[in-house]
Amino acid sequence: MFEVILKKGKEKAVLQRHPWVFSGAIERVKGEPANGDVVKLIDAQGRFMAYGFYNDQSRVALRLLEWDESTPIDENWFRRKVAIAVESRNYVLQSGKTDTCRLIFSEADYLPGLIVDKYSDYLSLQILTSGIQNNLSVIIDELQHLLQPKGIYDKSDATSRAHEGLATTNEVLAGSPPPELVEVKENDITYVINIAEGQKSGFYCDQRDNRHILASHAAGKKVLDCFSYTGGFTLNSLKQGAAFVTSVDSSALAIETLRKNIELNGLDAARHAAVQSDVNKQLRRFKEDGEMFDVIVLDPPKYAPSRSALDRASRAYKDLNRIAMLLLNKGGLLATFSCSGAMDIDTFKQVLAWAALDAGKQVQFINQFCQPEDHPVRASFPEGEYLKGLLCRVI
Ligand code: SAH
Repeated sequence: MFEVILKKGKEKAVLQRHPWVFSGAIERVKGEPANGDVVKLIDAQGRFMAYGFYNDQSRVALRLLEWDESTPIDENWFRRKVAIAVESRNYVLQSGKTDTCRLIFSEADYLPGLIVDKYSDYLSLQILTSGIQNNLSVIIDELQHLLQPKGIYDKSDATSRAHEGLATTNEVLAGSPPPELVEVKENDITYVINIAEGQKSGFYCDQRDNRHILASHAAGKKVLDCFSYTGGFTLNSLKQGAAFVTSVDSSALAIETLRKNIELNGLDAARHAAVQSDVNKQLRRFKEDGEMFDVIVLDPPKYAPSRSALDRASRAYKDLNRIAMLLLNKGGLLATFSCSGAMDIDTFKQVLAWAALDAGKQVQFINQFCQPEDHPVRASFPEGEYLKGLLCRVI
């Protein structure tokens, strides 16, 4: 096995079991490992530190897998990690009210670069590292053994694949291709999902619990669901008896699918309006028209892809939230999210405080949202925490 020698003084994070080693922390590579090979990380004294995937095209040159030298990274290692991850999701699925969740969440499940989402009888994978790509056949075999899915689909169209020198793919890996629309259930609500053409792996199952919490505040209320995608917050709110829900998203496919979902669940289309528009423009339009709401959801895409983008992103979050605050009736609720890993909850609270000040509103934080248990945050990998939100009462 090839060896990679760590620079002296760079041991701390590795000893704390952080899974990333940046290329700048590497002293020397012995031999010529291929990208995706499992290599041994050695400290400056020649002592074993960890096994990891090697990739010289990535800023994260090593993704560590195992810190115990006597545990080899063989087929059984991958099978064990897959099985542990899948088993730990039983809790989410056991009620029978939900048949979609994230089964494997990359570093959080000790499989850096592998995301597996379950959509009823189909699995949708995102493969973001060459190490996972190299070991895909055993991973697929174990998933088939554990779950007997009808089909396994590779939805690796993420731009992050380029960082590892991998091409994007969108194809069936095993079993039969999923139908154009796969029906799934979440919180006892049915959704159709277009795995091949939908965003990310097809659906945002990370908002499952938050949709449920938000909907408990929606009965009898006039709700605005911004960045609605296929209607997660909209459908939960309608089901909980919202008086009227308006959904806004810029994607025509998302709005079309949302409408299908409302019909599929027998929800009253007369209590719903969908607007295909840019949210920033639409909020300003509502302001001009004097249209007000009782509950507003803001679930924008990632504004800060990295720490260096945080300042700019903070201004965008502030502006978005400021306008939303101006559209709320007295005592209205704002459920506002950020899925930017670079934005921590304290910074997000600060951004909302600025937004409130600019809007001339008083804001109370009455609940905090986070990612659900099928998107765990590994203690030694805080970077895995990305989704946060606040439920605000705006006075
Ligand atoms: N709330 C959704 C997930 C939102 S994902 C759910 O519960 O499933 C972010 C969504 O924002 C995507 O559907 C994308 O199409 C939409 N979007 C991105 N930029 C936008 C913009 N400027 N205006 C309106 N929608 C936008």
